[in-house]
Amino acid sequence: MLNFNKPCYIGKEETAIQEAIANQKLSGNGPFGLRCTNWLEDYLGCEKAILTPSCTGALEMTALLIETNPGDEIIMPSYTFVSTANAFALRGANIRFVDVEPETMNISPEAVERAVTDKTKAITVVHYAGIGCDMDAIMEIADKNNLWVIEDAAQALTSTYNGKQLGTIGHFSTFSFHETKNITCGEGGALVINHTASVERAEILQEKGTNRKQFAKGMVDKYSWRDIGSSYLLNELSAAYLWVQFEHAGQIMDDRLKTWRKYYDGLKSIETISLPHVPDECTHNAHMFYIKTEHRHELMNHLKDNGIMAVSHYVPLHSSHAGKQFGKFAGGDIFTTAESDKIVRLPLYYGIEEKDVDHVISRIKHFFKL
Ligand SMILES: *Cc1c(COP(=O)(O)O)cnc(C)c1O
Repeated sequence: MLNFNKPCYIGKEETAIQEAIANQKLSGNGPFGLRCTNWLEDYLGCEKAILTPSCTGALEMTALLIETNPGDEIIMPSYTFVSTANAFALRGANIRFVDVEPETMNISPEAVERAVTDKTKAITVVHYAGIGCDMDAIMEIADKNNLWVIEDAAQALTSTYNGKQLGTIGHFSTFSFHETKNITCGEGGALVINHTASVERAEILQEKGTNRKQFAKGMVDKYSWRDIGSSYLLNELSAAYLWVQFEHAGQIMDDRLKTWRKYYDGLKSIETISLPHVPDECTHNAHMFYIKTEHRHELMNHLKDNGIMAVSHYVPLHSSHAGKQFGKFAGGDIFTTAESDKIVRLPLYYGIEEKDVDHVISRIKHFFKL
């Protein structure tokens, strides 16, 4: 069976993990954690990045940082992972799900604009498949209405929009290093804080609500409870694995892009399916290759019969049990349900062999009688 995903592995991770063990510092914010945050800050060109146990944790931190209160409305796409919504539902917010644009499956700025009320606190965008949302339009709506913007950039590390790294445009952004993402450490994430005034508070929230970070920097002589918070740290063993992947980020992205282009070139002649669209303002990291077809179920079965795992994606959150409890759709669901029903994601991971990609392409063509 050809896997849909294999967690990225370079081959030097064990050595780094051994070094972490030898350092006798296994908890968070150790030497590997520092190398990783420095790498992120340099690569993205952002002021502050911190490592978290997951993107979910980083999203929870953003909900705390913007002081989400019960009754606040948070606008986001319905077509996203549960964590995007959960982080705010945990704080009592009402989620306002809005429609996506069919070309990218990214949040529609027009739908956002229509969903803004005097209770709206923030817009959380999701860069689906590592392809950027229309951030100029989103930031303009946010500025006009005095709203926070959070980028759920879980899938988008190294992708750009108008020459800017995704994750550096909104007030906060979150990344994931889950094993299904381009760069991984099993479970892990990062919070990027572009809103300078929130940096100090983020460091306190991350350390269980204490000013331990200031203590570690020698700024105070003991640390104490300052604020609410939780344990939002990534341990050093994971950070060591992650560091190796950061060092090979270029190699990982190039390899994935090669596969992505091969799929694109191999499938573009099939007129009855649609392929991902990359807007002119965007470069992307080949996080995902999906096709849209009216015959999703049959195609997935056909591929499975040919030893290929191809998978669908999100069930729109507004139609889920919890989605109905914690939110509702604002405006019309013109594209979210209809378009998400057509998505089939193809196997794509670092090191996938060319012959396997050719096999997938040939089986899809066969299905469409080409
Ligand atoms: C993967 C993903 C998450 C969750 O990431 P974790 O690191 O597993 O918490 C959140 N949002 C989006 C859009 C994702 O793709």
